[in-house]
Amino acid sequence: MVLPQSTDIEHQWTQVRGMLRVEVGDTAYSTWLQPLDLAHIDGDRVVIAVPTQFMRDWVAAHYADRIRGLWTSINPAVRTIALNVRPTASPASGSVERFPAAPAVLRPSETESPVPANETAALEDLGARLDPRFTFETFVVGKPNEFAVAAAERIASSSKPPFNPLFLYGGVGLGKTHLMHAIAHRVKHHDTGRRVVYLSAEKFMYQFVRALRSKDTMTFKELFRSVDLLMVDDVQFISGKDSTQEEFFHTFNTLVDRGRQIVISADRSPSDLSGLEERIRSRLGWGLVADIHPTTYELRLGILQAKAEQLRVEIPPRVVEFLASRITSNVRELEGAMNRIVHQASITQKTISIDMAQEVLKDLLRANDRRVTIEEIQKAVVEHYSIRMADMTSARRSRAVARPRQMAMYLAKHLTPRSLPEIGKKFGGRDHTTVMHAVRQIEKLTAEDRVLADDLDALRRKLQA
Ligand code: ADP
Ligand code: MG
Repeated sequence: MVLPQSTDIEHQWTQVRGMLRVEVGDTAYSTWLQPLDLAHIDGDRVVIAVPTQFMRDWVAAHYADRIRGLWTSINPAVRTIALNVRPTASPASGSVERFPAAPAVLRPSETESPVPANETAALEDLGARLDPRFTFETFVVGKPNEFAVAAAERIASSSKPPFNPLFLYGGVGLGKTHLMHAIAHRVKHHDTGRRVVYLSAEKFMYQFVRALRSKDTMTFKELFRSVDLLMVDDVQFISGKDSTQEEFFHTFNTLVDRGRQIVISADRSPSDLSGLEERIRSRLGWGLVADIHPTTYELRLGILQAKAEQLRVEIPPRVVEFLASRITSNVRELEGAMNRIVHQASITQKTISIDMAQEVLKDLLRANDRRVTIEEIQKAVVEHYSIRMADMTSARRSRAVARPRQMAMYLAKHLTPRSLPEIGKKFGGRDHTTVMHAVRQIEKLTAEDRVLADDLDALRRKLQA
């Protein structure tokens, strides 16, 4: 767990990056912020190395203030941030003169040459760096993710694959990457001899294409095939590119044949990975498929409480409840919301209140409110089951309409910030206990009834698209 009072500058850098990532999202983060490297600290000034002049300008204009703000909030001694173009990247650039060249603390950025072109790459270079915060200890378990967590823990503690592959899927920001890193941390902790490689499907493709280009696919293959536990994140990106699919598939089969463990993640189920060839798709579903469901109110509360503890901040329970009920999209946004509030409180020295949260999170709240409405849910369910809209509000109890009605209530509870009484009202003025019963009923049934679970998934995806 990262403590805010840490004096370790590297540690602070990790923390600042973590917060930025939550705030700006993965895409912007990997484009602009991941390639930055901490160079050194110089009095009250932190010097950060940037690969190119272009990136320096962009980061200076868009992120420098934020980096400084976040940094000052965890270490008040830091007052300015200097962005220094890495000497090799652009020797003529003005900023190099203004900021003296950085010393050798530079780590190679993940976006460039992870595998040395002409020598045998170390296995570690094959994978991506692990986020130290993503452990089982920091992962909050609740109904929506308990199955996936149990499966992940099982893998982390087994020397032989208990199921192969583990296929984790779920919407964006629900903890897939966190769980994969947690597996890697635990395996490395317990048994340093096991070779673990975690990487994104994009990086896998990138490395493969690179090997093809340098005519060194043998090394590539051998390296991958010597891994004990291979985790490939976001395989929905492997679609298209035939040769990469082929190679991925071969690697996959070889590892499985050799009794090595594979963990795969995607934002959809194996059967919905439309870009993949059928045989690969079906092969991916042979092991254990564990899906991470959208968060529930209870899980959001739990996550916020855990997070507040990690940050060592007091947040009034009413504000925590407010956030849990209003930021329903995903955990990433929820964390981002919390960071913004905490940060705001620390710079303005004001206490955290609902009013303040409302002000600071205006845009986020609006975006979350704009999400799915109960009417949209009812319409989607009615269409899916070819029943009548009136059945959503009617008192009819025949299963053919009662079940879809319960599913609609369940979806309303999960996908909208509406309270149980509010939901009941939209379903013909039903009592909140009826809604609660429907939610429990569907939760129970999804565990037993594959068809119903698939229907629910399809509906959820349709509504959230
Ligand atoms: P995904 O890979 O599914 O898009 P991530 O694993 O990147 O999502 O999670 C997004 C953020 O939310 C991360 O910062 C992660 O630590 C956090 N997170 C997600 N689920 C949980 C959870 N159950 N408990 C604690 N943090 C979580
Ligand atoms: Mg992810």
